[in-house]
Amino acid sequence: MQTLLAALACLAFAGTCASGADEGGMRVYFRGSSAARRIVVPPLARPGDILHDTGPSDPLPGIFDAILFHGRTQAGVGFEAQAGSADVWGPWTAPEIETFSNGRFWGRFRLSGTKGTSVRIRLVHRGVLPSSVIVIYEIEAYRTTREPVVVTPSRVDLSTRPGKPDAQSRSDWNAAPPKYDYTLMDIRRVTLHHTAGAQPEALEDARSEMRLIQRYHQAGRGWNDIGYHFVIDGAGRIHQGRPENALGAHALNHNTGNVGISFMGNYHPPIADQPAAGQIKTAVALVRWLDEAYGIAPEALFGHRDIGSTECPGDLLYPKVEEIRKAATQPVPPPGPAPGAQAPDLPAASRRLDRFDFIRPFNTQ
Ligand SMILES: [Zn+2]
Repeated sequence: MQTLLAALACLAFAGTCASGADEGGMRVYFRGSSAARRIVVPPLARPGDILHDTGPSDPLPGIFDAILFHGRTQAGVGFEAQAGSADVWGPWTAPEIETFSNGRFWGRFRLSGTKGTSVRIRLVHRGVLPSSVIVIYEIEAYRTTREPVVVTPSRVDLSTRPGKPDAQSRSDWNAAPPKYDYTLMDIRRVTLHHTAGAQPEALEDARSEMRLIQRYHQAGRGWNDIGYHFVIDGAGRIHQGRPENALGAHALNHNTGNVGISFMGNYHPPIADQPAAGQIKTAVALVRWLDEAYGIAPEALFGHRDIGSTECPGDLLYPKVEEIRKAATQPVPPPGPAPGAQAPDLPAASRRLDRFDFIRPFNTQ
């Protein structure tokens, strides 16, 4: 209920909002629960069987033009979606699905509905092997947006400051170019997210995950580029998203001056990945460098939920934000047997409201 009220308030004030879903649309709820699921194909399932049915969603409290969703699928699984309300439902339709070689996929089901529309998605056996595992990470309702294009500062200096931790470059993960020129920003805060997707450790899987996130953001959400500046994979490697001094798209109404760091993984129940020690260590190094290179106050590191109506970065990662903030202010540890050790748990944070002092709302995305 709290989430619903927040969503309604958000709609009332902003026209669109990021309630629930990670960085863009509105999470779709089914009887009050998110759609995240692990689905195991039963041993005796036959072609044509329904492997999973979300059932009708709770009515969407606004007008949206698409349902976006992503997860992990297997060969021989069909997706079908329908929209409607009460007893009047449209036909089952095949949504657009883009699948990557490791099974990660994202999909879009276009809506022409009215306020109060419900949606329903089902997975159909089309020859999938028994015991295969299919994952739905997230289903969100979305009104396709375009980032604001700022005409003037297009030829911006995107050079970086010294001491930057090693990162996989955009060409390493075969990034598509941005659709148009970036907008320069002065860095003054950092926000931590989760991707709400997979948590790959293998390099090729991580690069593939970057491409999936970029496609989801560019083709699904209609953005200029991947929304984040840095993404940390399950092995603790950094992948460069947007240049850090280019305006990002990761925190609705709070993107100006805000560097977005996202952990690959889904750190919220029911998926509930655990943040890896290597990911935390990398985040500490990255935040330390951003603080030093750009003069950011350590207090200006936020979890996404501190500044938006969202579960991001998830109940399991959010408590690490304070740990990362604290560790980033400490001197660089000497090389030796310490790595992997995490900073001790800190007293429960009581500074959350204080940190809003650093927030200045801007109407950018
Ligand atoms: Zn987020």
